[in-house]
Amino acid sequence: MSTTTRAVVTGGAGFLGSHLCERLLERDVSVICMDNFLTGTPHNLIHLLGRPGFQVVECDLTDFVHVSGPVDLVLHFASAASPVDYLKLPLETLKVGAIGTMHALGLAREKNARFVLASTSEVYGDPLRHPQREDYWGNVNPVGPRSVYDEAKRYAEALTTAYRHSRDVDTAIVRIFNTYGPRMRPHDGRAIPTFIRQALAGEPLTVAGDGTQTRSICYVDDTVEGVLALAFSEHEGPVNIGNGSETTILDLARTIRGLAGSPSSIQFVPRPVDDPSVRCPDVGLARRLLGWAPRTAPEEGLARTIAWFADRLARV
Ligand code: NAD
Ligand code: UDP
Repeated sequence: MSTTTRAVVTGGAGFLGSHLCERLLERDVSVICMDNFLTGTPHNLIHLLGRPGFQVVECDLTDFVHVSGPVDLVLHFASAASPVDYLKLPLETLKVGAIGTMHALGLAREKNARFVLASTSEVYGDPLRHPQREDYWGNVNPVGPRSVYDEAKRYAEALTTAYRHSRDVDTAIVRIFNTYGPRMRPHDGRAIPTFIRQALAGEPLTVAGDGTQTRSICYVDDTVEGVLALAFSEHEGPVNIGNGSETTILDLARTIRGLAGSPSSIQFVPRPVDDPSVRCPDVGLARRLLGWAPRTAPEEGLARTIAWFADRLARV
């Protein structure tokens, strides 16, 4: 791909998007962040405001999208991502996955820019193959509560592929697995921010079911490096980005409690409908194509995240 000097990051005020904006600016790429602040906040960008080449545009991606001047790269990250958020926002999630993705692809086409879709491990649903490789088609309940997110992302992948083949847009798809780190919202409902908030408050850690379901967790800096490695390559994907080691949710809760030095108990609560039983990426393709592998050990990333939450919660 030719040199990238100006990028659009949709969903740039969210958790992952704000880290992407920051990292692109560090690489001397100008950034236009487009966000409607549905689940993100301008607070995530406060340290970037006023930096040369950084611009925030408040807009809803499901409306008409216009950007003046050239754009070389569109990173499409706008979408609620936490199950608690997307279950509260079912139509908004379907619309940004469908109409929002169409508008972001249209922008890339108009500007002759490379386009990267933030897809998700959720396209594999409750997987019957383990670990998940990119050639697995998944096991998704199309009418279950999570379908608003899973099917939106599956449609977004189909749309991205169609724009590549029928409209000649230079596209790539990254399937991101559970990522954590600073700037997650303490109340976004995902396991890691919830356990950290509870551990720091000395409240019981709410483990769903018996906690034997698994996830693999990747520190945000590693995920962002992987996304940018794909963005700056010529590969189309889909490529899994995540950590290839797996933990049970009960072990994750105990690890967070230990790292936080918390006296909290564990409280078992009902498991959400269609909650995947296992999830772990095969990251062989990312290693081979992009030379990428996660570098941060879970204990190290979790300790950094706990310190960030402790500092943030002390200020509110
Ligand atoms: P987030 O909720 O923190 O960020 C999403 C951002 O998108 C928010 O700032 C929100 O306001 C914005 N947004 C939502 N709808 C919009 C719309 N219609 N118009 C404009 N902006 C809109 O979530 P996140 O964890 O940062 O996830 C970002 C992206 O990465 C999502 O597309 C998600 O599916 C994908 N992803 C994240 C993870 C993860 O572990 N964090 C895993 C897989 C995929
Ligand atoms: N979970 C939990 N307690 C919580 C929040 C989540 O035990 O307070 C579980 C959830 O049921 C799932 C896992 O943790 O099995 C990961 O959930 P999360 O919402 O972080 O991400 P998901 O991978 O489900 O999108």
